[in-house]
Amino acid sequence: MTTYEIFLVLAGLLIGSAIDAGADRYAREESWITGRSRCRTCDRTLNWYELVPLASWVISRGRCRTCHAPIGWSSPATELAGALIAVGAVFCAPPGLLTFTVLLGWLLLALAAIDFRTFLLPDGFNAAVLVLGLAMLAWARPTEWPLHFAGGALGFGLLWIVELAYRSLRGRDGLGRGDAKLLGAIGLWVGAYGIAPVLLIASLSGIAAALGLSLRESKMLSRQSAIAFGPWIALGGYIVWLLQAAPISLVGGAL
Ligand SMILES: [Zn+2]
Repeated sequence: MTTYEIFLVLAGLLIGSAIDAGADRYAREESWITGRSRCRTCDRTLNWYELVPLASWVISRGRCRTCHAPIGWSSPATELAGALIAVGAVFCAPPGLLTFTVLLGWLLLALAAIDFRTFLLPDGFNAAVLVLGLAMLAWARPTEWPLHFAGGALGFGLLWIVELAYRSLRGRDGLGRGDAKLLGAIGLWVGAYGIAPVLLIASLSGIAAALGLSLRESKMLSRQSAIAFGPWIALGGYIVWLLQAAPISLVGGAL
């Protein structure tokens, strides 16, 4: 690994930490920028060494040092995801697109972290995935834009139709418009042929997560159960983007 690649993986830990804290503040409608991180139970301001990704969580065994309230899994999980996104990019990003790839992954992680908490995919983040995708096309694939624009239209159109159909059949919202916007923005990256694999991974992982949740909380999923779909679209989008470009030897070795 080059120095830049190691830097990206370490930066991924810090960015994961920032995304977890930012999504938490977004969900509580607090400012993203100002204010120090606090224990959510006893309101004590955390010291700098309590904010070191992963290590602080392991040392404190996942509890606040003052009130011993559990800190929860979201911060170490998001920090690890931020680093794994960079690891995946280092091994699988298309040639010359390492930086574009990690930025895409971290944007998708932020969308997932917010959607898990709020069932919302903010337009600003969806737009960032779209604009970064346009920049990627202009930079690396200037002649392939028709296939990628078709992917964007197909991704948005498919989920938009599902959203409208669900509402007219069931009389309530099933999918949010944000899901359609996200799949549209991802379609710009993965192209028209990438949409079906993204939806397949999103559906399977979303269903697996819903089953896992219902087992843990030992209750059946009802028709009213709310499950955020955005995180699974984001996961599928990143995996498909990486696999489309994965070196043949890597894919060949797995087959
Ligand atoms: Zn505390």
